[in-house]
Amino acid sequence: MSDHKRKVALVTGAGRGIGKATVLVLARRGFDVAVHDIDATTAAETAALVRELGVEAESYAADVSDSEAMRDVVAAIEHRFGQIDVLINNAGIASDRCPIEQVTEAMFQRSIGVHVGGTVWTTQAVAPGMKRRNSGSIVNLSSIQALVGWTEGATYNAAKGAILALSKGWAKELAPWNIRVNVVAPGHTETEMTARNDPPELRAAKAKTIPLGRYGQPHEMGEAIAFLASDEASFITGQVLSPNGGFVIT
Ligand code: NAP
Repeated sequence: MSDHKRKVALVTGAGRGIGKATVLVLARRGFDVAVHDIDATTAAETAALVRELGVEAESYAADVSDSEAMRDVVAAIEHRFGQIDVLINNAGIASDRCPIEQVTEAMFQRSIGVHVGGTVWTTQAVAPGMKRRNSGSIVNLSSIQALVGWTEGATYNAAKGAILALSKGWAKELAPWNIRVNVVAPGHTETEMTARNDPPELRAAKAKTIPLGRYGQPHEMGEAIAFLASDEASFITGQVLSPNGGFVIT
């Protein structure tokens, strides 16, 4: 059993965007952080920012859809820190924006591979350690696209919907080991993903459809993620929290 003094969080896809913001929120709350991304450079840059906050951080590079690579990453983190208390399955790629007739097998395989495969393989690698310690918290990133009907996004809708179902199943499956599993389903958030997808005029038009009148900021997602990950949420499992500015109200 490790005697690492601070809790350790692994955040996938943390080189930028919501993952990077989440890492910084967790670091401010006293977590040591394993910063993972497909891009070794951005992961290392984020880890350096985390260290400036006075906690420990290491960076790890791997494609989250590669089960063997993620097993190696998790083993390296457990060797370095002794444990993983919190797992944030955040790594993601942009939604397809095309009618069903134009969806290709490659688009489908990549979206399912990164979002669903990445979440499954990383959780599979992390769960045994959490079970041994009889403690853990997992937060999986879905999307408002999985909460309401969304046109022209078949592969992303499928992947983010699967994450809701996986999380509900794992919440029950892992509860006997005191491992909680929750979902954050972000609304429109100002990150590289949305900047790359939508020109400024389109983002301004979309902002008008959000009751709070603006996109969310990555740190606002990070706060919701960190809350569900924390002991303050100790009786919450199998739930979906959607910071979306009122875009989806159920
Ligand atoms: P982002 O700015 O594009 O950041 C995603 C990060 O994940 C990037 O650092 C990216 O690295 C990394 N990544 C991509 N593919 C990967 C892979 N195969 N293996 C490991 N890392 C990989 O996106 P974001 O907006 O922060 O999104 C974070 C999560 O929130 C995603 O799951 C996304 O679907 C979800 N989400 C976002 C929004 C939104 O409005 N932004 C809304 C709902 C849900 P590279 O950039 O180097 O490829």
